[in-house]
This record gives sequence, C-alpha cells and structure tokens, in this order.
Amino acid sequence: MIELKSKEEIEIMREGGRRHARILRALKDMVEPGVSSFVLEEKARELIEKEEGEASFLGYSPEGANRPFPAALCFSVNDEVVHGIPNEKEYIIKEGDLITLDIGFTYKGFITDSAITVVSGNGTDETKALIKATREALEAGIKAVKPGRFVGDIGAAVASVAKDAGFSIAKGLSGHGVGYAVHEDPFVPNEGARGTGEELRPGMVIAIEPMLTLGGGKVVFDNEDGYTYRTKDGSLAAHFEHTVAVTEDGHIVLTRE
Ligand code: MG
Ligand code: MG
Repeated sequence: MIELKSKEEIEIMREGGRRHARILRALKDMVEPGVSSFVLEEKARELIEKEEGEASFLGYSPEGANRPFPAALCFSVNDEVVHGIPNEKEYIIKEGDLITLDIGFTYKGFITDSAITVVSGNGTDETKALIKATREALEAGIKAVKPGRFVGDIGAAVASVAKDAGFSIAKGLSGHGVGYAVHEDPFVPNEGARGTGEELRPGMVIAIEPMLTLGGGKVVFDNEDGYTYRTKDGSLAAHFEHTVAVTEDGHIVLTRE
C-alpha cells in the first residue's frame, strides 16, 4: 500500500534531506587512500547525531534478513553494488577504489535515503565514465517524476542513460517508497517500459537509485554477511540515490543541500 505524505510532512523531510546531504558530503570528502571503513562508520554516526537525527539503517531488519543491519552506513567497494557493511571486517581504502556511501537518515520521525559513489584518488577514465553515467541516470529518473506519469517512466529513463553509455543495470535491485519506513511501496524500477507500474501521485515520496556496472548486470548475494550484493563477474559498480517527493506540478528532490 502506498502511503501519501502531507505537505507538512514533506517539509520536514526536506529539512531532514538537507541535513542528510551535508552528512554525505562530509563523508565523501573523507574518502581517500588509507582511510578505514571503521572510521567512516564512526564519523557517519557522529554526523547523524550532530544533525539531530538517527541512523535509519542501524538495527533495521529488511524482509527476509536473518539479522538486523549492524551499521549506520552502507559502505560498498568496487564490485560490491549495495549493502556493504563497514564495521565488521575493516577495509582500508586503496588508490582508485570505487566507494559507495549510502545512508538512511531519520529526522523528526521521517526517513530519507541517499547514496553517492566516489573514486578514491585518481580513477581511470572508465571508472569516471561509470560514475558520470550513473549520476546522469539518476538525474534522468528524477526528471521523469510528475503526477500522472508512472514508475515505469523512471525505469525507462534510467535504463536509457545506461544503455547509451554502454553500461549495465544491476539486475533485481531497485528503488522504493520511503518516509515512514526505510522501504515502502511502490517498487521503483531501474528499467522497464513507460506507462507501466504505479502511477505517480502528489504526496508520494520515493527513493530513486540507479546502480550501473561496467560488465554484466548479474548480481550475487553474500550469504555469509547476509547483506552485501556484488556483481557476478566482479566488475565495478556505481550507485547514486536521492529521495524525491511528487508534488502537484512535478517533484522536489529532498536530499539536496
Ligand atoms: Mg540507500
Ligand atoms: Mg534505497
């Protein structure tokens, strides 16, 4: 069931989203060779507290999970697509690593979800192109958000950017409704046909999150940690995400400064 948010609730989420964006920017600025994933997790918690919110992912149990997520930050390196865990096995960032930082931020009871991918040090032309295309895929998806359009329009816009750039969409992973909970309806695909799926209505708040890979789109799940998804062929993946509200005349991106 899709739960619409009131204008007042969306206003609160906009303020939460601004704070969320500041947290991600500060963490992004810390990414460089030699930095520990433990330090980033610690910093994420510190910044979330400073911005007067709570870590939505910490202790969250998604459907089908065998244990709650143990961290505030999802930290995914290179072939890890999403849901990497920063605070169990320490990872020291290397030159050229592709690092995805994904955070859920709860502010006054409302959750926003946003992610970015950044290269540590000097990336190759290929990694830079992957990041650029994934960011553009997100922008294209956001542009498709208007009342009367459909979630399939978002997927079609995202997939078209990926295809033009020559990259694959990570299969089986998608965006979602967000706000009262980390994952709500509707399902927001990263591919698909225009005019299909749920119709977008004012008051809907969705996380749009393209995940693109340099190789094939197949992903595998890490049964050992119960969370991390990696590309099956070991190719690099990038991920960008914003929380977006559907308004009467278009949309507002909530997770921007
Ligand atoms: Mg996210
Ligand atoms: Mg999400």
